[in-house]
Amino acid sequence: MSQNRIYLCLAHMSGNEQKFIQEAFDTNWVAPLGPNVDAFETELENYVGENKKVVALTSGTAAIHLALVACGVRAGDEVITQSFTFCASANPITYLGATPIFIDSECDTWNMDPQLLEEAIKDRIEKTGKTPKAIITVSIYGMPYKIDEIAEIANRYDIPIIEDAADAFGSKYKGQVLGTFGKFGILSFNGNKMITTSGGGALICENDAAKQEIMFYATQARENYPYYQHEKIGYNYRMSNICAGIGRGQMTVADDHIKHHQHVCQLYKELLKDIEGIKLQENPSSDYDSNYWLNTITIEPWVKVKGEENAYAQTIQGAVGGAGSVTHSVSTLTTDCQPNNNVEAMRIALDKAGIEARPLWKPMHKQPVYKNNPAYLNGVSEELFKKGLCLPSGPCVTDDDVRYIVKNIVESLI
Ligand SMILES: *Cc1c(COP(=O)(O)O)cnc(C)c1O
Repeated sequence: MSQNRIYLCLAHMSGNEQKFIQEAFDTNWVAPLGPNVDAFETELENYVGENKKVVALTSGTAAIHLALVACGVRAGDEVITQSFTFCASANPITYLGATPIFIDSECDTWNMDPQLLEEAIKDRIEKTGKTPKAIITVSIYGMPYKIDEIAEIANRYDIPIIEDAADAFGSKYKGQVLGTFGKFGILSFNGNKMITTSGGGALICENDAAKQEIMFYATQARENYPYYQHEKIGYNYRMSNICAGIGRGQMTVADDHIKHHQHVCQLYKELLKDIEGIKLQENPSSDYDSNYWLNTITIEPWVKVKGEENAYAQTIQGAVGGAGSVTHSVSTLTTDCQPNNNVEAMRIALDKAGIEARPLWKPMHKQPVYKNNPAYLNGVSEELFKKGLCLPSGPCVTDDDVRYIVKNIVESLI
């Protein structure tokens, strides 16, 4: 990829990856199991602590899918998740024929609003006679959710928590690593996440028995006979030994990556502090320790940006995440819910200066595909979507890059 452009979060190799991959080739472990997979899992277990066990999988999405299977989610069930998230927090619920129930965000962490969560649980029980089967919490952009409040409610109604910590590798709440608070925790090692295996994920489990059960489902649910015997429907979700080799190399720089993202946050904070109407998202208190996977700003609607009156006039070029070749082409320039004109104008200005910025994630309850799902709302996530931008934050972003980005933000203002 071109290094002239400044991307949100590009993969960054430590230089140790190839050694582990070479080992896999030399020992002929080119398979979805092997010494790198075992070692990567042990390294992840040591990293997250709390006596948890970890299963390495093909993606974070697969990890959520298997966590739901292990929680007994079936067709006709309901599962609660956060509306303000990436679609992967919700889609595996749909894969199982269950229904995602969406909860809006609170303003401090931008994650699941505990008050709305309790309202939703009560309402679902009243309307369906059944308690939701699980709650998928999200730590969006790396910011921990309101863990104590959500856990108290989940415990009271006896609903298991699956922590989608895909963004939050190494983030901490009161000193404890995200992904270890619930019954399951999911991690993602996609190319743009805190660490990468090119593509991959992991499921954090409570104990060895849970880990065994997840591995069983991740390898086609094979019963212990000398021939293939299946009594359950399984999946082909185990991580390859090659990818795990990349993961082992990445673990040698994981803490450096996190420190770098946090350093970039500090620099943005310093440089943005005098700009009126633009606010950087930060830890709401010292209990929170975000990895700042993506640094994000909100721009008030009254902030004037050059060219905002024509913000949506031009043809959309290139979808988010460099996914231009795999997305559907669109027939309209606008949708009924999109970032404000000043936000889009700033995104375009940054794009022209070689800087990738991206709107905050469009809430699931505003996605056409989920428009009929029950949603418990307060307007926060929709407003965030309309006001927000993600800024480059990854290990390849230098201090000079951050200065250049903020300079371009300032120059885009009227
Ligand atoms: C990236 C991401 C996922 C999915 O992880 P993959 O490894 O890409 O499947 C899930 N949830 C959130 C919030 C994410 O950002």
